[in-house]
Amino acid sequence: MTKYLLTPGPVQLPEKVREAGSCAMISHRSRAFSDLIARIETKLKLLLRTNEPVIIMPSSGTGALEALAVNFLDKDSCFVSVTCGAFGDRWREIALRTGAHCAFLDIPTGEGISAEAVAEFVLNQDRCDVLLLTHNETSSGVVNPIKEIVAAIPEKKRPLIFIDGVSSVGAMECYPEEWGLDGVGTASQKGLMTPPGLGFIWLSGRAWKYLENKKCPSYYFDLKLHRKELEGNLSGNPYTPPVSLYYALDTALGVILENGASAWFAEKKRYAAALAAGVEAMGFELLVKNAKYRSPGITAIKFPSGDTEMIRDNLRKMGIETAAGQGKLKNELIRIAHYNDCGWPELAMILGSLYAALGLEEKSSENFLRKALEIWHS
Ligand code: PMP
Repeated sequence: MTKYLLTPGPVQLPEKVREAGSCAMISHRSRAFSDLIARIETKLKLLLRTNEPVIIMPSSGTGALEALAVNFLDKDSCFVSVTCGAFGDRWREIALRTGAHCAFLDIPTGEGISAEAVAEFVLNQDRCDVLLLTHNETSSGVVNPIKEIVAAIPEKKRPLIFIDGVSSVGAMECYPEEWGLDGVGTASQKGLMTPPGLGFIWLSGRAWKYLENKKCPSYYFDLKLHRKELEGNLSGNPYTPPVSLYYALDTALGVILENGASAWFAEKKRYAAALAAGVEAMGFELLVKNAKYRSPGITAIKFPSGDTEMIRDNLRKMGIETAAGQGKLKNELIRIAHYNDCGWPELAMILGSLYAALGLEEKSSENFLRKALEIWHS
């Protein structure tokens, strides 16, 4: 039976990405690997619209965030952490373990972060070296207006601004240089449609300068060391990288960039809007009420009745794997991801299967596919 993995990472891979990942091994100290990195760097820079290098390291997304934390924060620094969900909370915890001082702003689950609220909070601090934000909060399906948030803080008063881009990069616009960001951490297994195992860090010129006189307490995550190896005679890593994942990544980036990244991002938005319309026409609510904050990569649907395990189990029997809610929302949410290469056939498949899995034929539901199709075509 064909199976569909609709969890927010790892995601269903395009067939050619899977094939690329099973290539013959090459030495990670060879011209061939150096050339592979050069191809990937070119594509990552196109995706992020940047000229700065993108550090690639063997790690999950958590490793990328940890790398940002340990390179920039220590017991003498102060940071502001704004969170609107479980992953924002986790990044705060990662940063706190450096011993740095933290001021935090918590936004209720399901709501997006307002640019004005963040600017006011940051400007009211006596000191703020680094501001931590989550671009896409995977636990709730919220996408935050990062560009607006950065713009709301006057340039002269801006701390270094880092985003957790683990569930945004590859699936939606993320233009750190144009937006005035200083750091992005992300991972391979969501928007980049590659198996899990690679972490990525982008830094602004200002952030690289900030590191000049700092010594990173971690060897594995030392960003200056990674950059030195990347820019050496033969591009590489300070240690042995998962070579197969680089092949898979190169191919996946090709899929995203094939018709231009903007077209890919527009498709994700269209898919998310049509899915939302179909679910709402079935009589259910999305956790994120305000459409402005709805993620193009993941949709969280509310089932206050608490029968989410039954519904997910029914979907699983049809070959479809979805994600539950996290923490307190475990029994109230089903999260359906759309990071994979998906279009109308997948949309009709998930909406139809969800309807069948609910076993609630009396709901006003006969219009749900038509509603979704209207949005799909609009
Ligand atoms: N941040 C966000 C927004 C995430 O979605 C995730 C993973 N779901 C992480 C951080 C942690 O990433 P990883 O599991 O790859 O370590």
